[in-house]
Amino acid sequence: MNFVVECIFCRIVAGDLPSRQVLSTDHTYAFFDLNPVAPVHFLVIPRVHIDNAACVEPGHGEIMAEMFATARNGAESLGIASDGYRLVFNVGRHSLNSVNHLHMHVIGGQQMGWPPGVEPIR
Ligand SMILES: [Zn+2]
Repeated sequence: MNFVVECIFCRIVAGDLPSRQVLSTDHTYAFFDLNPVAPVHFLVIPRVHIDNAACVEPGHGEIMAEMFATARNGAESLGIASDGYRLVFNVGRHSLNSVNHLHMHVIGGQQMGWPPGVEPIR
């Protein structure tokens, strides 16, 4: 499945909905999150529709590698690469996944801890 009409991220990739671009590559698109949780927060998505990280298959290898490269290049261009950043994939309702199109959160620009509810179990 390459394009899902009711998917807002498919529509962003197609240019039907606006976004603030970070990077654009052959297989990926990166744009700033509308509700940032840190000074730098952008999303990396594949241009083709993949529901979520649980649906990634061996045939998606090239796309996945490009997603990580786009995350790294975006982090470098935004000046957060040297201090580090967090990469997050959410799957399903317990994770609060809100858009059913695979997306990687790239979050940085500040010191992070674990969010409430996911602290290490002692
Ligand atoms: Zn989609």
